[in-house]
Amino acid sequence: MVLASSSASSESLVVPLEELVERVLAYQPNADVALLERAYRFAGQAHEGQVRKSGDPYFVHPSSVARVITDLRLDAASVCAGLLHDVVEDTPHALGELERDFGAEVALIVDGVTKLSKIDFTSRQDREAENFRKMLVAMARDIRVLLVKLCDRVDNMRTLEFMSPDAQERIARETMEIYAPLANRLGIQRFKCELEDLAFRYLEPAAYQRLTQLLAKGEAQRKRYIDEMSESLRRQIAEHGFGGEVDGRRKHLFSVQRKMMQQRVDFEQINDLISFRIVVESVSDCYGVMGAVHARYTPVPGRIKDYIALPKPNMYQSLHTTVIGPGRERIEIQIRTREMHRVAEEGIAAHWQYRESISGGADPKVMQRFAWLRELMEFQRDIKDPAEFIESVKVDLFQDEVYVFTPKGDVKVFPRSATALDFAYSVHTEIGHQCSGARANGIVVPLKYRLRNGDVIEVTTSPGQRPKKEWLEFAASSRARNKIRASLRDEERDRALKLGRELLEKEIHGHGISLQRLLKTDAELAHVLADLSLASADELFAAIGYGKLAAARVTTLLTSPDAAKPASEIREGRIEHLVRRVTGRDASPIKLTGDEDVLVRFARCCSPLPGDEIVGFITRGRGITVHRRNCAKSFEAAPERRVVITWDGRVKTSRPVQLRVVTVNKPGILGQLGQTFSSLSVNITALSSRAVEDDRSVNIFTFLCGDLNQLKGIMRALQKLQGVYSVERV
Ligand code: MN
Repeated sequence: MVLASSSASSESLVVPLEELVERVLAYQPNADVALLERAYRFAGQAHEGQVRKSGDPYFVHPSSVARVITDLRLDAASVCAGLLHDVVEDTPHALGELERDFGAEVALIVDGVTKLSKIDFTSRQDREAENFRKMLVAMARDIRVLLVKLCDRVDNMRTLEFMSPDAQERIARETMEIYAPLANRLGIQRFKCELEDLAFRYLEPAAYQRLTQLLAKGEAQRKRYIDEMSESLRRQIAEHGFGGEVDGRRKHLFSVQRKMMQQRVDFEQINDLISFRIVVESVSDCYGVMGAVHARYTPVPGRIKDYIALPKPNMYQSLHTTVIGPGRERIEIQIRTREMHRVAEEGIAAHWQYRESISGGADPKVMQRFAWLRELMEFQRDIKDPAEFIESVKVDLFQDEVYVFTPKGDVKVFPRSATALDFAYSVHTEIGHQCSGARANGIVVPLKYRLRNGDVIEVTTSPGQRPKKEWLEFAASSRARNKIRASLRDEERDRALKLGRELLEKEIHGHGISLQRLLKTDAELAHVLADLSLASADELFAAIGYGKLAAARVTTLLTSPDAAKPASEIREGRIEHLVRRVTGRDASPIKLTGDEDVLVRFARCCSPLPGDEIVGFITRGRGITVHRRNCAKSFEAAPERRVVITWDGRVKTSRPVQLRVVTVNKPGILGQLGQTFSSLSVNITALSSRAVEDDRSVNIFTFLCGDLNQLKGIMRALQKLQGVYSVERV
């Protein structure tokens, strides 16, 4: 296995130009050596006189980064970018100068790395880390930017001991949350393991020390065991006619630690510290070798995994099996081909490496196994050669999304074509409605400003502002568009109501009828509404205002013989009449049959659930609004509008419910809560979480729930979790 190649002594030295050139030429024979030399000299001079915290010349760092880049066998342009990566940020030289002297390709990579370095990823909530990783990828228009940035981080972590404790903690946390997972997503196992172990060392020094000591104790014995077992495996596969390299090793420190935390076990209970790897010539050899191993050592049932037939999303391929080895130790054995091994160690870099000598270039089929990358990239054409392949990934990854910051530094995700207005609506509906201006990175921009990755967006509001029709031309998110449409509709309806009312008033006034009086006379109004199949006076006004109904029709109805009946003959009051119209039945209480009744609306203030005690109110023009019986809002409504309703026992529905869960503020607790929901087959539709004082965190879960019994079950299950202080319905 190729482990990190730098040792303590070489870290304090500038990597010589000759070494870099030699390494690059070994895999890229036609590399532009002159360009490498110039980049090396230029960077060396630019950083002249600068020193690192360690006291070493600054150039030790870029030259080391360049060497790490050659470990990944990236092309000469990447190595040059590695040498120059801190020049723009830390010296007077400008990007334009680099472009002139070293070409657009090198300058583009340097620019990308410089921009990524300016983002502070620390102190983010766990749930946002994935957004940040995505944003990292999105901002890197060339995948080599990410790879060079990772190499930079590897060297920073290797030399972290010279930084202040604060900086160590910050950089280590960022590495653990962002860069190690990114290395994993990119399939670069060697970086992932090294970054995790280094970050672990600075984040939890005590645990790191303890584990190191525990492992050191058994190390000599373990080494003997590894040697003997390797020899035995070698003999075993040779006897079955296979060749292959056998390599045994202890799992990396942090993977042991993670196992202890996840399984909540002590070190002594970890029983698969050692794993072996057998690298063979062909895929069929992989299966043959596994058979040979099983012929000698009993496999543990259920532990055979075929990642050759079913590769992991990051393209990893191998056969895995766990066998009972000598001394009844459980041993994991990975079997793979040379090519699979390279991909396992170097991931996506394996496909970006300079590989002109290999005919055919990168296999697009192999590339497509990067499921996550496939989502991001559009492979609209077949890739025929390496140059074209690199060209094809110089697209914005995550094409469909754009990531921006709030002034407080939170990340928000929008569709690609989103504008400052979408941002405003994402903050709050009213902020959107009243949005009058915006700033991007401190500069005033119009509302239709297209968001760009990494922008910091602020919006200003003014109370007089209302949504305009033109806004629909540049609002891209469905949320903003819906809110704008709804507001425009409401305004239009208001205007229609007002207009309709005036029209009707004029019309009937001409016939000696007062609108005021008509509205007070239940019987007459009910008669008019019933004849026109309208539910309320407002609907009547709206119908006239929208021009769907001529005001003269109303006069006709009012002056027809029917209307002359005395009021006492029409016993049904207005409300009863409406209720009957709404439900189509006489019987009260009204039975609610779920959410299909358009004229039944569930109040959003209390969000009633089947099983809750409920009460209904007639709402003008909107049928019945259902509240929970003890909802404060329900007491505000006029008592004469009240109707008795109950749930239909047979109703199968699901209604949104919110639970407020107060927990201790510690990592992982959200995951546990989430698991509880999913173990009860409940889908969370929204979650907001914020830390409050006393090391607590308040989490609001929104989800769909069938009835009160189910809700009670969920609340009980949550209550039982350790670290949960209270669970209450919102
Ligand atoms: Mn650097």
